[in-house]
Amino acid sequence: MKVAVVGAGIGGLAAAIRLRVLGYDVAVYEKNATVGAGAIS
Ligand SMILES: Cc1cc2nc3c(=O)[nH]c(=O)nc-3n(C[C@H](O)[C@H](O)[C@H](O)COP(=O)(O)OP(=O)(O)OC[C@H]3O[C@@H](n4cnc5c(N)ncnc54)[C@H](O)[C@@H]3O)c2cc1C
Repeated sequence: MKVAVVGAGIGGLAAAIRLRVLGYDVAVYEKNATVGAGAIS
């Protein structure tokens, strides 16, 4: 099954990793050029 995650903040990345481990085909869509959003410091 294919799953789309919108947003590559820590929440989206964590969800994507968990879904991938469960065997889903995951695509992450991020509007900005970098990942991590507000969690990067
Ligand atoms: C002022 C401030 C300072 C902070 N400082 C720190 C800090 O120093 N260290 C720390 O660890 N945490 C910090 N935090 C907390 C941290 O930002 C959040 O806890 C964490 O980033 C939340 O993660 P999130 O994935 O829920 O959302 P976000 O980090 O907001 O990620 C959401 C992502 O979704 C993307 N997005 C949104 N809409 C779309 C769309 N339509 N299409 C594609 N992509 C989309 C955004 O571009 C973003 O990348 C701070 C928060 C604030 C407000």
